[in-house]
Amino acid sequence: MTDNNFDALVIGAGAGGLLTAARLSHLGYKTLVIERLDKVGGRASTDEVEGFKVNNGAIVIELGGITQETFEEVGAKFDIRRPQPPILYRIGKKDVDVTGGGWGFLLSKLTRQGAKLVTGLGAARNDSGMPENEISTADWVRKYTKKESVHGIFRNMCGSVFAVGSEELPARVFLTYFTRKSAFKKFGFCPDGTIGVWKALAEVIENNGGSVWLDAEVTELTLTDGRITGASIRRGGETTDVTSRFTVSDIGPFATLDLVGRENLPADYVAQIEQGNRPCAMISVNFASRRKLSTAPGLLSFATTRRLCYVANFTELCPEMAPEGWHLYQGTGVPKPSVGEFDEKSETELVLQDLRDEIEGFDEARILSINVTRDGWPPQRAVAGYDMPYATPIPNLWNVGDAVKEYGNGGTTACAETAKIVVDEIHGQFPVE
Ligand SMILES: Cc1cc2nc3c(=O)[nH]c(=O)nc-3n(C[C@H](O)[C@H](O)[C@H](O)COP(=O)(O)OP(=O)(O)OC[C@H]3O[C@@H](n4cnc5c(N)ncnc54)[C@H](O)[C@@H]3O)c2cc1C
Repeated sequence: MTDNNFDALVIGAGAGGLLTAARLSHLGYKTLVIERLDKVGGRASTDEVEGFKVNNGAIVIELGGITQETFEEVGAKFDIRRPQPPILYRIGKKDVDVTGGGWGFLLSKLTRQGAKLVTGLGAARNDSGMPENEISTADWVRKYTKKESVHGIFRNMCGSVFAVGSEELPARVFLTYFTRKSAFKKFGFCPDGTIGVWKALAEVIENNGGSVWLDAEVTELTLTDGRITGASIRRGGETTDVTSRFTVSDIGPFATLDLVGRENLPADYVAQIEQGNRPCAMISVNFASRRKLSTAPGLLSFATTRRLCYVANFTELCPEMAPEGWHLYQGTGVPKPSVGEFDEKSETELVLQDLRDEIEGFDEARILSINVTRDGWPPQRAVAGYDMPYATPIPNLWNVGDAVKEYGNGGTTACAETAKIVVDEIHGQFPVE
């Protein structure tokens, strides 16, 4: 093989791309990852801002599930520190730890109707107790209670896990996630910022003989007799052509259409992907203080905020993320509506008002950045429950990432799950040569 001939071409060094490429290179495929930006991690990466490690997307990584399993399988360092308790809920003026008590305990703090809701949740463990897909999570909760604080808790859970409000998330997705999936019960922060975990995967890929090209962009996929046989890559002002036996795209099926050319794909597939392209949005405020502003070692969530879903406390467990003597936090909210158009200025103001109301001392804190993630750089490329297929009409082209999640999953965990499924399919079809 010459330098530019690969078994696997992976477009994008986001969570989905790197989890896939690490598995492929571990199996022995000669793997090339192409990333447009100058660093790995995509929407789960980290920026250096005035000496702070500021996460630009995902802040917590699940422990004990498919993500950790992948790292262990491929031999990558998985440096995640687990806060205990993972999450406190601010109910009234108290920050409540519900660890061990589960839903019953949490809901009993909010409403006398808690038992009925717990029964509804229990019923969802059987298919017959699952609501129709058209019923939103908010409508499902409304069947049991009108209480604002209960709706607030459910709204903020939908926001935290799926990056949409409870009006936009099918109840079936919410209930599938909490009754049948690992449900992010255990999670933690990476002390290097979330980028640390993806750097560890990139290292494994390179140790396995693969390559990760940064500052490089796939501009076109080469189609020969209905199969992808390689790509044109713009890198350092030059175009390089590479060949591949198969290709995996982590840039979302919608952007992948452009690389293949819509005219080369069946019209019904193109229509399905164009309709399914419904990115959601989030607003994150990164702030720092010399004073400690939260007693929650992990996340603090809320029952009665306007938009704010959680405040993450990074430095309690990972002091390396801030200069000495500083505490680093992030407050994140979901706008209304969280899918489609919204007024960025007024929605950001509502997140800031919540932070002023909930976090004593926020007014004196140093705001490092305010990130509105939406459109082409969203928190989830497809709303959970409306995911697109990972397979494509081209037999040696697959999609991975958070637009092609399995039903009822979200975030980087969903990326790890699809990566495994896609790599298993590839391995079945393309023997290692
Ligand atoms: C504010 C926020 C908070 C979140 N919180 C969490 C959380 O706490 N936990 C969690 O698990 N998830 C969280 N998520 C979701 C998680 O970040 C995403 O689901 C995940 O990072 C998506 O990864 P991906 O691989 O699908 O795509 P991406 O990260 O978008 O990766 C795609 C990569 O492809 C590159 N690319 C695009 N086009 C090209 C091209 N033509 N050539 C080469 N490269 C290209 C891009 O630069 C990008 O790096 C959060 C997201 C946001 C925005």
